[in-house]
Amino acid sequence: MSIAPLYLDYNATAPMRPEALEAFCSAAEQTGNASSVHAFGRAARKLVEESRRCIARCIEADPAQVIFVSCGTEANATALGSIINGQKADNLIVSSVEHPSVLQAIPETTRTVPVDSSGHLSPATLRETLEDVPEGARVSIMLANNETGILQPISEIADVVHAKGGLLHCDAVQALGKLPLSFSQLGADMISLSAHKLGGPQGVGALVLRKGLHLEAYLRGGGQEGRRRAGTENVAGIAAFAAAVEAAVAELSQFQSLENAHRKMEERLRNAAPEAVVFGTESERLPNTSCVAMPGVSAELQLMALDLEGLAVSSGSACSSGKVEPSHVLTAMGADKTLAANALRISSGWASSPSDLERFSQAWIDIYRRQQRAA
Ligand code: PLP
Repeated sequence: MSIAPLYLDYNATAPMRPEALEAFCSAAEQTGNASSVHAFGRAARKLVEESRRCIARCIEADPAQVIFVSCGTEANATALGSIINGQKADNLIVSSVEHPSVLQAIPETTRTVPVDSSGHLSPATLRETLEDVPEGARVSIMLANNETGILQPISEIADVVHAKGGLLHCDAVQALGKLPLSFSQLGADMISLSAHKLGGPQGVGALVLRKGLHLEAYLRGGGQEGRRRAGTENVAGIAAFAAAVEAAVAELSQFQSLENAHRKMEERLRNAAPEAVVFGTESERLPNTSCVAMPGVSAELQLMALDLEGLAVSSGSACSSGKVEPSHVLTAMGADKTLAANALRISSGWASSPSDLERFSQAWIDIYRRQQRAA
């Protein structure tokens, strides 16, 4: 008997929402470069601009503030490239738990602000760090962490940065579609978004900019996106991105029952395995994410055993040059490397149901008990 597969790896990528798939297919059937002046081009332009307006409306921004790019990584690289431009490394600040697309887009000597053991970045700590930096610091702090789901207090952080004449970029890739997100209320000067984390297609994202902020283009050689991002627009991807954002924002309330299911699952795992560690329980977190370590059992072994049961989740560890490195996010929270290497991320989304998390709990507990018996 084959086992029904169960996907709980939405923070890696979410399945396409039906609305997005429909918008994608319908737009892909049309021919037209959005920069061409003929009727075909104008139809493509219309789709791009309608999509821009839709996304802007969903995040309370102005359409002119939304720049389409190819992914969250490009949005981060563009934002950082622009804010770093001409700055000294000691004027740049990021948190220690940023996504690699931020950490690898900055000079190695950039200052990092630590998080505490609950994964929280304190605005007071950032204020102290800013005391040692010349006015006008450039700061990049994420809204929601991809591994733990832990949220940072971006509005307060923005106040701290702005009080010192600085500029704040915020990687909001994991937050969009899972939390109410208002660009105007968040207070950051730029945010990065990605379509595929919320049920849009892979390969399209956006950078949203505060009005009046100059952006140094990362890709040059064309006048697209108001000369801020050269390259033919991904019309079908953009149309599907907008459809996904619209659907996600309309269905945000579904995360309430998923959040309850995540918290219940965490409790169940800890009851079955009292030494299990759930990261970030004292912090505000995304409603769809749990990060749990099963002491004594490597994440790789857990992943393989779960995969045999048809369950797809992921580990926080990164495999580089054949060596599995424990997650920098968990070690930044003070977790020892062995515990960090035992952590799994379970992330649900728009097509998940609370019973999926119950099935995961049972499979996890079975693995834990098998390991206990073997030990
Ligand atoms: N930022 C965060 C927090 C992410 O989780 C990801 C993807 O995992 C990215 C940026 C990069 O997004 P993309 O996959 O669209 O390049």
